[in-house]
Amino acid sequence: MEVLTKKQVIKDVPKRWKNQYPNGKEHIYEKLIAAKPLSKKKVDAIIGNDSWTTLTCDQCSKDVPLVVLLDNSEYSNSICEQCLNKALDLINEPKI
Ligand SMILES: [Zn+2]
Repeated sequence: MEVLTKKQVIKDVPKRWKNQYPNGKEHIYEKLIAAKPLSKKKVDAIIGNDSWTTLTCDQCSKDVPLVVLLDNSEYSNSICEQCLNKALDLINEPKI
């Protein structure tokens, strides 16, 4: 389990961009590097959409500032604080 913040997601955009487009779209990569320190607004403007700066909870599908990554299999799950609290409530409810 680890925590992933939107701040980190935005900071990692150039690295992730390079991984996804190793042999192309260099002009975007260079703009991202030149725009450091990156903000959501800058990244969204350079790339042209907000898909690289959203951090989505896999449970409620909301764009959130922070998730916990549950990574025990080939699939990882991102869960937000609100959903974790809901899960805690369920665990703590009296059981039959
Ligand atoms: Zn959630």
